[in-house]
Amino acid sequence: MNVGIAGLGTGLWHALRERAVTRHWELSDALFAEIDGFAWVQGWAIGRRRTRHTYRDPRFDRVLACRSCAGDGAVDGRACRVCEGAGLINFVEPPRRRR
Ligand SMILES: [Zn+2]
Repeated sequence: MNVGIAGLGTGLWHALRERAVTRHWELSDALFAEIDGFAWVQGWAIGRRRTRHTYRDPRFDRVLACRSCAGDGAVDGRACRVCEGAGLINFVEPPRRRR
């Protein structure tokens, strides 16, 4: 639609569009406020899009599936020796050594 034909100046059109976008973000913030707060307390990373929020625990960046056991934690029915049965390799906190 041509805004000039509808009688709306570009300034008014721009203001209405800006208000609609602002209202949309306010509604999104209100809808996701509780879970965003929970995620923030947990220290999760929050990704915000127009209608979607994504949450990610940054601790997952520290781990990788163990290649020896393919993440199962066991090889031939016994605990994996590399990851000690966890199935994950933690790069920040290596597994404790058994005595
Ligand atoms: Zn393993």
